[in-house]
Amino acid sequence: MDLSGRVAIVTGSGRGIGRAIALKLAGLGATVVINDIGDASPAESVVEEIRAMKGQSMVVLADVSSSSDVERMVEETVAAFGKVDILVNNAGITRDHLLMRMSDEDWDKVMSVNLKSVFLCTRAVLNHMIKQRWGRIVSISSIVGVVGNAGQSNYASAKAAIIGFTKSIAKEVGSRGITVNAIAPGFISTQMTQGLKEDWIQEIQKRIPVGSLGTPQDVANAVAFLASEEARYITGHVLNVDGGMGGL
Ligand code: NAP
Repeated sequence: MDLSGRVAIVTGSGRGIGRAIALKLAGLGATVVINDIGDASPAESVVEEIRAMKGQSMVVLADVSSSSDVERMVEETVAAFGKVDILVNNAGITRDHLLMRMSDEDWDKVMSVNLKSVFLCTRAVLNHMIKQRWGRIVSISSIVGVVGNAGQSNYASAKAAIIGFTKSIAKEVGSRGITVNAIAPGFISTQMTQGLKEDWIQEIQKRIPVGSLGTPQDVANAVAFLASEEARYITGHVLNVDGGMGGL
């Protein structure tokens, strides 16, 4: 796969899965915009790694749940690199509680950062992609959006909605050379899963046919394929990257 000449935006790419996706796309030749919220230093270090590979990259700090921030992120990308070819909707958060203890704020925050962001970022890049008749949109859902999870009704709802959004937009823009797909990771070792108790992780591992948690690189490899020319005939698809969990 060769992504030379492509320009990608990866949201929430200062650390975790987003960072691995950014490095993978850059390794295949893409110019990558590193987006994060708050502290710029993790994002700057991803940019340094990409520049060390002789790639092009820059940081755009933006809250992906804010319409004006997202518009600015896409404008800055086009101003710096001339276009946007690939959007990876990766930024996400958890605010886990059993439903009886879930506040309005826990619900709204997860819906904004995990779902509204996908709508805002996709809408902001689409006219650029339609004009050039080429684009790749890959959104990071979760296996939890497919099978559900106690204590994560807000997160699972947002991740399930990403799937409906993906299938709908794939139908809207399929004739314009733009593919729209989602990836549903299982349990991946990142800061998001580091908070889980050790005995719970061991319990999860017993339910994963492959026998271990996934790595951010496992997800990044799947994103790279869906972002490539080789995946031109795949759209509206949800790809599980979960060691077989989703089939349980
Ligand atoms: P992570 O380590 O917590 O990283 C999330 C990234 O998103 C951070 O860089 C964070 O920035 C950024 N972010 C949070 N809110 C943002 C906002 N409003 N605007 C812009 N950036 C924002 O998470 P991860 O485990 O890599 O997860 C990445 C994606 O994969 C998420 O969508 C998650 O739901 C999904 N996923 C993860 C797993 C898993 O097991 N880890 C499984 C399935 C799906 P800060 O560092 O500034 O907070």
